[in-house]
Amino acid sequence: MSEGMTRMPPKPELGPGAGSKEAARALAVLRAVIDGMAEGVWVTDEFGTVLEHNNALKELLFSGTAIVGHRVSEIVPSGELQQAVEKACRENSSSRLELQLEGVRPRVVSVHVSPLGHDLSGSSAVFFDVTELRRLEKVRKDFVANVSHELRTPVTAIRGYAETLLSGALADPVAAPKMVDIIHRQSERLSELVEDLLELSRLESKDLQLAEKPINLANAAQRASEAVRPKARARNTTIELQVSPDLFVLADPRGVEQVILNLLDNAVKYTPPNGHVWLAARHSGDEIVLTVRDDGPGIEARHLPRIFERFYRVDKGRSRDMGGTGLGLSIVKHLATAMKGDVRVESAPGQGSTFFVTLPVSAPESAGNPATSG
Ligand code: ADP
Repeated sequence: MSEGMTRMPPKPELGPGAGSKEAARALAVLRAVIDGMAEGVWVTDEFGTVLEHNNALKELLFSGTAIVGHRVSEIVPSGELQQAVEKACRENSSSRLELQLEGVRPRVVSVHVSPLGHDLSGSSAVFFDVTELRRLEKVRKDFVANVSHELRTPVTAIRGYAETLLSGALADPVAAPKMVDIIHRQSERLSELVEDLLELSRLESKDLQLAEKPINLANAAQRASEAVRPKARARNTTIELQVSPDLFVLADPRGVEQVILNLLDNAVKYTPPNGHVWLAARHSGDEIVLTVRDDGPGIEARHLPRIFERFYRVDKGRSRDMGGTGLGLSIVKHLATAMKGDVRVESAPGQGSTFFVTLPVSAPESAGNPATSG
């Protein structure tokens, strides 16, 4: 008999004297199997008192006290579960239900209660932990709702202005060009959103293959900064690169540039005109730490744990005005972790923001010709 199985003292009919050695062995195997299950299992008598249970059940219910010998209602405060056990014991019928277990470790548990059958009185119940499943379902639902919401704004604007043009405004020499301009800007916004969504789904797909090449960080930083210079110039914001030419990371070339680009783009975007942005990198153990710092408005502490989430924005209006999709930082997070690195932020209102990206270091000697790497 498995030692882990917790039960009432053996009843005479289950005792070693009651059956052959084979029967005792079969029982022991059965108990070992039940105890090895990931799902929680209990067996009750016909009055709903638990006779035995496996280890998984104790872990699932996070119960510090004894379960055996107690009524169902004393173990799990759920009228629904109690009714299901009564139904199984009295009416010989099975039921399935879902329980929200509160406490230090809240869980969602799906329970299947059935009569023991085979002329045995009592019931059994199997408990499946579906917490992660329900969480993922919620994430997916929220994502679909967010995407629909984000798409609706530009689509509504494009449609509205196109209809106005069609119903006569096309002939208005003053209003027509303005409307076409809005349609153009909104369609750009739409295509940025679609691009970012495609990038995210590419990053989340299981068969994503990122390269692991030695990349010269100074070159990658230079290229990424070129892409944001026009925006920085228009805002009279300076971008200062402080990356030593001998730093190499082992990563995906496109991925590294995308990470730097998104962080520089945010730094320039959210820092008021005449601001300053610094990009630096240093060696730390077997990692390279890349920092993108700005002297912009900073971010309140309550937002910091969430800004890497998809569609999370501190100031929705401001992000949209600046052409943000709310996906830039989640792409950075995905890319950094996919390249065996990470990203974090330090910021406070009025103190600017600093984003730290860590990536695995690559020894320059394994990097081949630095002039062509990265
Ligand atoms: P967005 O497309 O809105 O810029 P991101 O995912 O790139 O989306 O960023 C999420 C939010 O984090 C932004 O909406 C902004 O509120 C905040 N944020 C990001 N970078 C900075 C920064 N350098 N300074 C201040 N706020 C920032």
